[in-house]
Amino acid sequence: MALREIVHYGDPILRKVCQSVKDFSKLTKLIDDMFDTMYEESGIGLAANQVGVDLNLFIIDITDIEEEAENIYVFINSQIQESHGESWFEEGCLSIPDVRLDVKRPEFITLKYQDENGEDHVEKFSGHLARAIQHEVDHLNGVFIVDRVSQTAKMTVKKELKTIEKKAVSKSKFRKEFVL
Ligand SMILES: [Zn+2]
Repeated sequence: MALREIVHYGDPILRKVCQSVKDFSKLTKLIDDMFDTMYEESGIGLAANQVGVDLNLFIIDITDIEEEAENIYVFINSQIQESHGESWFEEGCLSIPDVRLDVKRPEFITLKYQDENGEDHVEKFSGHLARAIQHEVDHLNGVFIVDRVSQTAKMTVKKELKTIEKKAVSKSKFRKEFVL
């Protein structure tokens, strides 16, 4: 088990559009570490740049929410092709600890992505899974939940954001390059 440090709001890597994965042969360790880290932090989704890796890759495990046997996913080079409908749900984020916000998102999406073997997929998603996917795709495009809410809603967490941002900015200056 190898845990990675979660990067927080304010770190420049979380404002970048992440690079596409081209080499699929070296992802196993990164993906294993990301699952370990996500479970340790009790998250249901984690994007690679949240552990400081600039790659278009994220993982999701919503087994607890859906109460099904298995709901574990790895998505690589994802692109939302189509979305429709509307739903509201309170979201949290491992990169913005202790902040929760009601976020409006499309309810249904069509996602183009690749799996760990580089195979192409186009699939439709809805419900919690569609929401979790959109949250993580946002991360890979440098977007946070605070960018998805009104200015008024953002003001309610202004203090918390400032504190997290200050720490993350100073930490990022000392961060070494993360390895896959
Ligand atoms: Zn997040």
